Amino acid sequence: MNPHDLPALSGAAPAYEALARASVLYTDLDGTLVAPGGSVLADATGAPSAIVASAIVAVNAAGLEVVPVSGRNRMQLMELARLLGWGGFIAEAGAIIQRGTGADAAITYDRGVWTAEQAGGRPPFATIRSSGAYEALAEAFPGRVEHYASWQMDREATLLLRGCLDLAAAQAVLDSIDPPLDIVDNGMLRNPGTLACGDLPPHAYHVVPRGVCKARAIALDLKARGLGPADAIAIGDSATDIQMAEATGALFLVDNAFASRGVIDELARGGRPNIVRLSGARGEGWAELASAWVQAVHA
Ligand SMILES: [Mg+2]
Repeated sequence: MNPHDLPALSGAAPAYEALARASVLYTDLDGTLVAPGGSVLADATGAPSAIVASAIVAVNAAGLEVVPVSGRNRMQLMELARLLGWGGFIAEAGAIIQRGTGADAAITYDRGVWTAEQAGGRPPFATIRSSGAYEALAEAFPGRVEHYASWQMDREATLLLRGCLDLAAAQAVLDSIDPPLDIVDNGMLRNPGTLACGDLPPHAYHVVPRGVCKARAIALDLKARGLGPADAIAIGDSATDIQMAEATGALFLVDNAFASRGVIDELARGGRPNIVRLSGARGEGWAELASAWVQAVHA
């Protein structure tokens, strides 16, 4: 589908129906909720603003649930959820689902297609780290992949890399590794680190147990809540966020999503009629959705 053919939020009847029914919003963070640098107290350009904070307060006051879905680790998301008044999150690109943020929190690791034997009774990160996956990628793509050092801390489930890779070729490298692994593109980065990427933009990648993804985590989380896809909506900005359309009643894309080649390519594949385009970028698009959601639920 051409991005210009996507329905806009205003006047899209199916979008309104999805909003009116939904009680949970699954939200991407980077490029979606937060400004460049990671603040919610800023507009889409990064200038100080309460627009996103006000939208969060309005959604919380309406009794609606927001679940951050991110590549970030559990500790990072726990603090963020507590700061913003939210009751759980999906961390490490779908590999960790946590309900609650206190001592009684319920933590679920999704190991995808791995058997109990492959899982080995230890956190997936340790298994992936010792599988040789990183070493195989580094050998296949010299100078074009590295540990995403500053964020590769306290990880429990996925290997976080920075690189400029042909994703299909990288997956082919991982296909020779046991246990089965997928590489997931978690979007463009501003800083290439020490990589020799030339004109190629650097991306963040997660190496995950095969099958682990945001959509599967959302389905697991909804099931645990006794809810189904029509009870939820999602918002994001990257190609991997588009899969959230399959797990929810509607997926809303912030305006900056359309600067991504990956998003355009993913939309061109078609088959997802429940994607809606927001006019605002980043947190301003988030605030636009929040306002429409609160109104639709209360109408
Ligand atoms: Mg994002």
